[in-house]
Amino acid sequence: MKRYMIFLIIILLLTGCGSKIESYTAVGTVMGTILSQQVYLQGDGQEAGETTVQAETGGQAEREVWEEADITARIEAIVLELEQDMLSWRIEGSEIAIINAAAGSSNRVLVSDALFADIETLLAVSAESGGAFDITMGPVVRLWNIDEWAAGNNAEVKIPGEDEIAEALAHTGYESIMAESGSVWIPAQMQLDMGAAGKGIACDRIAAFLKEQAVYGAVISVGGSVLTFGEKPDGTPWQVGIVNPLNTSSMLGTLSLEGQWCISTSGDYERFVEADGIRYHHILNPATGYPAQSGIRSVTILCKSGILSDALSTACFILGAEEGIKLAQSYGAEALLVEETGNIIMTDGMKSIFRKTGEN
Ligand code: AMP
Ligand code: MG
Repeated sequence: MKRYMIFLIIILLLTGCGSKIESYTAVGTVMGTILSQQVYLQGDGQEAGETTVQAETGGQAEREVWEEADITARIEAIVLELEQDMLSWRIEGSEIAIINAAAGSSNRVLVSDALFADIETLLAVSAESGGAFDITMGPVVRLWNIDEWAAGNNAEVKIPGEDEIAEALAHTGYESIMAESGSVWIPAQMQLDMGAAGKGIACDRIAAFLKEQAVYGAVISVGGSVLTFGEKPDGTPWQVGIVNPLNTSSMLGTLSLEGQWCISTSGDYERFVEADGIRYHHILNPATGYPAQSGIRSVTILCKSGILSDALSTACFILGAEEGIKLAQSYGAEALLVEETGNIIMTDGMKSIFRKTGEN
């Protein structure tokens, strides 16, 4: 009898006390890139989830009820809201657009706690990377017209002249940002661009949301940043593919991961144009104003924080192999860099979870 009871308890635990795991998938467009979601919810497919939302008027907190099947729509809404209210330089009224519009004015812009914390994190990455990573590169990014480049789309390509680049570069430099007591000020003609960290920030916001819900596991990618969360229902590790930057229609290999991680890749294949036989990509060296030429084709960073994985992948791409590995290690992050020759350089932790395509 006793043995029978123990057996029953184990069965109940394994089946989550009778509740089923429902799988939800979705693909959408956010932040000018693809949002792809696979979410496993613990429930019966009917029950409603609940979230606290600020009421439109009066700022009172309200409980908003939603169906489990809406989970992917909720996640997409979180990223769209992040883009619209905080990170976009294009959308009038976003916090970054307001800071940019106030460039050089006598007033500092009071920002949300979340954005202030993100900017502080990114300024630290700028300092640690010796300026290779710099959110003040806005004027140069605009000059190159990078946000209009679809990968490989040569339409309306205008390569800026050296004088124009020098002029735009004169309005950059993270050390000129004043970020104090929850407010931000930038000098005249400087423009912030969060493009190198926005997708990682989105992964952080999604992870915070998933923690509040009855989520069993999820794997969500926002462009080049991937979030793994919880477990896969079949108990096997998450498999996150890394694109081969030398042949983007194939996979270089996969990372085998358990639990919550963020994996960001910066590659010269993500956004680029060709003019007069020269290929220009979207990761700019703040020292020159031109696409970085560090002998690297792509960098993948793995760590717990989305904002750091995204910022570090961009920074390491500019720094190159030796300095890039050092920077990643200073943050306790794992790194995988692919050199122009196809040679792969990895930190030791990365070696233990990376499996190259075609190898066991
Ligand atoms: P990622 O694809 O995450 O490496 O970010 C590249 C994007 O970040 C570009 O499309 C630009 O918007 C912006 N960016 C380019 N160069 C830099 C840089 N050196 N530091 C910070 N942001 C940059
Ligand atoms: Mg990045």
